[in-house]
Amino acid sequence: MEKILFLAHTQADGTLPSAAREALSAAVDLCRGLAGSSLAVGLIGQEIKSAADAIASCGAARFLAVTGAEFAVSRYASDAAAIESLVRQADATLIVAPATSRFSRAIPGVVQRLQGRIETHISGLDVADGKLRVQRWYYRQRMVATLTRSHRPWFLVVDAGVFSPWEGEAGSASPENVAAEFPENCTRTRVIGVQSPSANTQTIRPEADVLFVAGAGWTKKQADGELHVKEAEELILDFLKKNNASLGSSKSLVDQSVEGEAVLPFMSHLNQVGQTGSTPRHPKGLATCCHGEEPHAVGWRFINERRAINLDANCGWAQGKADVLYVADAFQVMKKVNELLGQ
Ligand SMILES: Cc1cc2nc3c(=O)[nH]c(=O)nc-3n(C[C@H](O)[C@H](O)[C@H](O)COP(=O)(O)OP(=O)(O)OC[C@H]3O[C@@H](n4cnc5c(N)ncnc54)[C@H](O)[C@@H]3O)c2cc1C
Repeated sequence: MEKILFLAHTQADGTLPSAAREALSAAVDLCRGLAGSSLAVGLIGQEIKSAADAIASCGAARFLAVTGAEFAVSRYASDAAAIESLVRQADATLIVAPATSRFSRAIPGVVQRLQGRIETHISGLDVADGKLRVQRWYYRQRMVATLTRSHRPWFLVVDAGVFSPWEGEAGSASPENVAAEFPENCTRTRVIGVQSPSANTQTIRPEADVLFVAGAGWTKKQADGELHVKEAEELILDFLKKNNASLGSSKSLVDQSVEGEAVLPFMSHLNQVGQTGSTPRHPKGLATCCHGEEPHAVGWRFINERRAINLDANCGWAQGKADVLYVADAFQVMKKVNELLGQ
């Protein structure tokens, strides 16, 4: 009989990140699927009561919490101590956690301390013949594997975007406080502030509904024989702002900076989508001035609805890689789209 522990940490505003609600859905489904199993919730944060209340009706038999100022921010020593205490207190055999950067850093060390096992980047969970089976991808989404293990405790770190966020009634949870000890010299690391890029440069938004991909065409000579990089920059940023979209790029566009060509200043290799870039998960994607070659389009594997704007009716998107291809000038189309969004 499995004892499932759902682990989460709060955000600065005391709420749970959306990735945590998704992992909670996975844990709740798992508890339903594994006969005789029980579910506990383990929360970490400065103050967790409102986060616990928000998920009070998830079906957990126990709510455990490590709280206090030392646990407000991400730090390996305190996070690892908190996770270890929660797992021990719950006597957990399966631990389900979201793949936040905070947990991705701390959980592997806890696995070592508890002599457990871990699966990261989980993209699916199911139960067959009473056994838990875990799915994950290898080699940049070229191979998918289904795994099972008998060793416990087994830590399951779930990728964002795989499960729907848990939704249910809020209520009043009664969290049990759990003490987490860590050596004083481990508090040498102090978080003195957060530096984030300005709104214009913070273009990667994993939770956005729309992925907007810009290709090299934006910085190429247009029909009038001129470059229109400044206009491209304004159109793209305007769309991102109005639609709160996430910005992706083709490799050709981000490579241009090292090749000394005209570039969009807010674009970096972190934006690159594709075989040697990222494989983001968004419900919708719009590719603009991007040819849709295979090494780029493989990065769209998890984009459900795909549209593209290209001057070339024979571009890669027309070869079955997009649901809709608009054969048009992206400068004109995006100008009109931004005008409509502005209304
Ligand atoms: C091993 C390997 C790995 C690779 N990995 C990646 C990867 O991870 N990601 C990736 O993106 N690429 C990758 N590539 C490169 C990939 O093959 C393409 O070269 C690249 O994606 C092309 O980028 P692009 O479509 O932006 O540029 P281009 O091929 O130059 O296409 C520009 C497009 O813009 C269109 N256009 C121009 N002006 C307009 C306008 N006004 N309106 C509408 N359309 C317009 C043109 O018709 C053209 O189709 C890889 C290649 C290799 C060999």
